[in-house]
Amino acid sequence: MTRSIKTKLETIDKDHFSLLVDIGKIAKEENLKAYLVGGMVRDLLLGFNNLDIDIVIESNAHKLANALVSRFSNCELSAKHDRFHTAKIIFTIDGKKISIDLASTREETYEHPAALPTVNVSDLQKDLYRRDFTINALAVSLLPDDFGKIVDLFSGLNDLENKKIKILHDLSFIDDPTRIIRAVRFAVKLGFEIEEHTKKLLFEAINSEQFDNLIEKIRGDRVKIEIRYLLNLPSIQEAIKEFYNSGIHRMVSTSLRSNDKLLNLKLDKKHKSENSWLLYLGIILKDLNNTDQEQIMKNLQMTNDEIKIITNGLKAYKILEISENTNSITLFKTLKELSSESILITKLLFSTNNKILALIDEYIEKTSKIKLEITGQDLILMGLTEGRKLGETLNLILEMKIKNPNMKKEDEIAQAKILLMNH
Ligand code: ATP
Repeated sequence: MTRSIKTKLETIDKDHFSLLVDIGKIAKEENLKAYLVGGMVRDLLLGFNNLDIDIVIESNAHKLANALVSRFSNCELSAKHDRFHTAKIIFTIDGKKISIDLASTREETYEHPAALPTVNVSDLQKDLYRRDFTINALAVSLLPDDFGKIVDLFSGLNDLENKKIKILHDLSFIDDPTRIIRAVRFAVKLGFEIEEHTKKLLFEAINSEQFDNLIEKIRGDRVKIEIRYLLNLPSIQEAIKEFYNSGIHRMVSTSLRSNDKLLNLKLDKKHKSENSWLLYLGIILKDLNNTDQEQIMKNLQMTNDEIKIITNGLKAYKILEISENTNSITLFKTLKELSSESILITKLLFSTNNKILALIDEYIEKTSKIKLEITGQDLILMGLTEGRKLGETLNLILEMKIKNPNMKKEDEIAQAKILLMNH
């Protein structure tokens, strides 16, 4: 495989390309070294488009960030973290914002397994060594003299060619267990295989007791980020299959059981969104009791909105599952306060029940859009006082309109009069 990606870099968006060239020039002037690293390098080599620019500076990212801001009027510093030796800068070109992450080359030491690392500035080699996999530990020089030259200290090019996910050292998964989820994610996403020795260490780690219910012991928000990436992959069935096969489910909860039915669930393309992962996570949690579900979501540090999406979707499913005679009206009542994501959880769980599926589709496409023209004010003018009765009457008229969507405002008023007479 090639030792330079200069020609590949020349094919990316021209604004991004010229920024990389400029950053290399300024780095040289400042006596620093600048390297493109991470996903963009990997993806460029694989022929995928990725404009997420991550740059490491040997050895002072803040110095380069300051030089860029003072040199370019369209460059601003948007964040700076002294502790992590990182900075984010944003260039504005023709109204378009291009954000670039800069970090000093760093090494990480872990005081105990799964601890947050202590970060110290070091050289490029140590910075690459702290990374997750060889294919993510390639660097590309941005300096004018060797622009595009690949630094491959851990045979990442070879592993890219052989489609292997390989860790850099034996304690990698112990140091940072989220790398287990990342290994599975990249294997599924890229169609790669986890290299034999890496696989052995992955299973050893995940089968050791200290990895059971790991989200109770380590920072759940980092696990959540990785689970979100995994369950948002386009090849979701493969992702869920590997979630169980690799044992990641045990890190979430040893009470989780694989369920073959899960592997056949798939959202329509039109319903895919940034939140798709929540729907699949909801389904994964479905058979646990409410207390366990809530504890897991709390351990993952999920937001209240995210938790609500899952709990409401599963609750609606349970109500409909035991209801004897679901029809448009009962379905309407069950789903009416729910977000579209919660409804999709319910829908996914009824994937093999054509009757309910059709009713849910009818709800999504038609019934949920039905609106009354009559208002509470109209009912008050007809003699009702504000309160429960008023709400109930509006609901009854809405149910009539669901059965007969052609009702006009006069029909609604006529029905209201009949209802009021009968009360
Ligand atoms: P993608 O864009 O597909 O998510 P990526 O490789 O850019 O892939 P990021 O999560 O953005 O993924 O991480 C950027 C880089 O940081 C990685 O390529 C890797 O080198 C490093 N990295 C990220 N997470 C870890 C980790 N947990 N342990 C070690 N290195 C990591």
